[in-house]
Parts: sequence; structure tokens; C-alpha cells
Amino acid sequence: MRAAVLRTPAPVDSNPLQLEDLAIPVPASNEVLLKVLACGVCHTDLHIVEGELSPRLPWVIPGHQIVAEVVEPNGSSLKKGARVGVSWIGGTDGTCSFCLSERENLCDHPTYTGYTHQGGYAEYTTARADFLSVLPEQLSNNDAAPLLCAGIIGFRSVRVAEVKRGQRIGLFGFGASAQLIIQVLLAWDCKVYVSTRETQHQQFARSLGAEWVGGGTDLPPVALDCAVTFAPVGEVVIAALRSLAKGGIVAINAIHLDRIPQFDYDSLLWGERQIRSVANMTRQDGRDFLKIAAEIGLKPTVTTYPLERANEALQTIRHDKFTNPAVIVP
Ligand SMILES: [Zn+2]
Ligand SMILES: [Zn+2]
Repeated sequence: MRAAVLRTPAPVDSNPLQLEDLAIPVPASNEVLLKVLACGVCHTDLHIVEGELSPRLPWVIPGHQIVAEVVEPNGSSLKKGARVGVSWIGGTDGTCSFCLSERENLCDHPTYTGYTHQGGYAEYTTARADFLSVLPEQLSNNDAAPLLCAGIIGFRSVRVAEVKRGQRIGLFGFGASAQLIIQVLLAWDCKVYVSTRETQHQQFARSLGAEWVGGGTDLPPVALDCAVTFAPVGEVVIAALRSLAKGGIVAINAIHLDRIPQFDYDSLLWGERQIRSVANMTRQDGRDFLKIAAEIGLKPTVTTYPLERANEALQTIRHDKFTNPAVIVP
């Protein structure tokens, strides 16, 4: 099979992914063999390719938003030819205190697709049968791909922020995840207030139906019920906190965050306001989000790349170009 392989992490402008011919992988006893139909490109892939996330395998095929067809069910209940999705969490131990309390997103020993397990920038891959989501028919291969990480994690953030129908919601930052989630919030009759630095993102938020749009740390004209921050900037968390009504929650959708500035407890946190982080996803988040995505007709506009242009797809993320989510089609 052909695959885009990372042997040595390096700046993405030096084209570190190489197209190679490899043997089709053999699934382990709890895995299935999959033919990759589409694989979304995520910001985390860039961190892996450039070595900000230190290598965990001698070499790796990145990619963790995989739409695939089951080639070899390998004794699982999945049917040959079924269309499934693979996400960032490729497996958990199932035995730690977090797994045993329905919080598998916090598992002590997870595997990560395209990082600690070979991913989807390839013609074939393997994945644990019990971590696959069967994809609703309404979603095309290319449209489903960006939903599998950007979408599901965005959806988990909305859950962590305890969003309810019809509420006033703030989105701080407007990248791939926010662009999908606003469509869910609008379908729930929420009023959405978007604060983002980029002019093109501001225009896009307006065109999708945001109630109000402002700059990166601008405060909406009304008090919010809850907010999700996507920008990896501590000041943005403070802006989000400042915009909350009493009892409101800020959910931080960012793996890394620069320092949160000192803030005044009495005026910003008192009144049962909360700041919460969002870590990974559970399988239930994935199932619930994909069902909603199909129901509301969520349709991201994507740009596709063949495998040999995987470096180029990542370069558009590195240079923060305002483009559609990138999807690799082997
Ligand atoms: Zn666990
Ligand atoms: Zn991702």
C-alpha cells in the first residue's frame, strides 16, 4: 500500500512526510483491517509531524479523522464493507478508575490514532473494532472526515460548558472546530456571539448566522450563559469569563494554553462561575455528535488532497491560511 510516512519530525515546510510503499498491515486480534476512503487533517497532526509531540513510535503514519471501509472484520460483529469512522482515541485500557466511571476520555493508558498507533494517511490501516463508529448514510466520506476530531471535540466542549437549547453562547476563536459547532448551536436555537481576531473568520461567522461578531478579546453586548474558548491564549479565557452571567461556565478547548493572567475572584469567578478544560472524547460523544450531525445536515466544505500532497495540506494549517478543512483522499 502507499502511505505518507514520518521518519524524522521536522518543520513542515521541509516536507517531512514521504510517500512510501509498505506492506498492508495485519490487524491484531481485537482489530479490523480498514481501507481508508478519506482522512481529515488536524492541527494535532502538525504537532506530531513537527515534533512538538515527541515521537512514540520509530516511524509513524499520521491521521486520526479516518473514514474507512471494513475489509476484514476479523471476528468482530462489523460487516465487511461497513463504513466506519476512526478518531483520535484509538483505545483505552478499560480497567482504570476513569474507564470504570464512564470517563474513558481521561483514561490513564489510551492509544492515540496516528501517534501511538499507525493512522490514516495511507491506503489501509487497522483499528480496534470496539472503538469504531458506524457512520450515518447522510454523511459523505469527505464531509464526515473533519467531524471525527474537530467536530467531536467541539461537541464535547459544548457538553462540558453545559449548553442548553435557546441559550446565549460565546465562541472565542473561530477555527475548524468552532465552524462546525456553531451550526449545531444554531440548530438548537441558541444565540451565538463570536469573538475572533481574523477578519476572514469574522466574516465567515457572520455568514453562518452569528448574532454578534467582535475581535479576539472583545466582550459581547449581553451577558452569556456559557462560552467555549478555542484560541490557545490565556487572555481569551479571561475575556470569556468576563462575559459570563452568574452560574456560567467557560469550557477551554485547547490542549496547550499560555499563562492565564491574574484575575479578580470577586468580580470574575464569584457567583458560581466556572472554568473547565476539555480533554479528548468518549465513544458516546462520538455517537451522539454523528447522530446530530446527520439530523441537522451538518456539511463542512472541505478541500481534498491526494496522499502525495499531504505535506501541502499540513502547510496550509501551519501558515494559518483561511481555507476549508483539508481531507486526504488516498
Ligand atoms: Zn482507562
Ligand atoms: Zn485532531
